[in-house]
Amino acid sequence: MKRLHDMINQEGIVLSDQVLKVDAFLNHQVDPTLMWEIAYEFMDRFQDAGITRILTIEAGGIAPAMMTALRLGVPMVYARKTKSVTLNEGTISAEVFSFTKQQTSTITVAEKYLQPGERVLIIDDFLANGEAAFGLARLVEQAGAEVAGFGIVIEKSFQPGRQKLIEAGFRVESLARVESLKDGKATFVDSVTV
Ligand code: 5GP
Repeated sequence: MKRLHDMINQEGIVLSDQVLKVDAFLNHQVDPTLMWEIAYEFMDRFQDAGITRILTIEAGGIAPAMMTALRLGVPMVYARKTKSVTLNEGTISAEVFSFTKQQTSTITVAEKYLQPGERVLIIDDFLANGEAAFGLARLVEQAGAEVAGFGIVIEKSFQPGRQKLIEAGFRVESLARVESLKDGKATFVDSVTV
């Protein structure tokens, strides 16, 4: 997705050869028109997949997930990373090791917002080692629902997440596939013109 590649090049900050900071348009300040275009791409790729719900994880996945839910006309739920007194009914949880925080946390959703038989599109801001993605997939499976696929805004293709998800039989659609963050610059697996 060309505009996303351009935004990463213009506004992204390469913190190391492993970590990209996109606080200017996705992880802190959020660009609504870019999110709306991202959602169009996900809608285009998944509109025939029978999606009934979108699942993401707080906080970075919420903006693209919300817009995609609006485009597809389905509800969206985000997994919580911290316990809340308001999350006091039946819940489903999974353990996730966080790439950015380097610690394990428990992610949780209320079971009434993830029903058996649903076809769930999992959206996230980044895909690195696949920990968050597999954690979200485990929530869907525990709910008795089905993962229809993963919509990833920025995939770091030099890390193993994509490969692991594909090997597990999942469909993965990534809008920007970063090949390398070496020398302070993001380069992409594929050059795009639109
Ligand atoms: P994974 O679970 O695939 O190892 O990492 C994905 C999660 O870690 C995403 O939900 C995202 O929040 C965070 N993450 C991983 N890599 C990066 C990165 O390079 N930059 C930012 N901002 N977040 C990342």
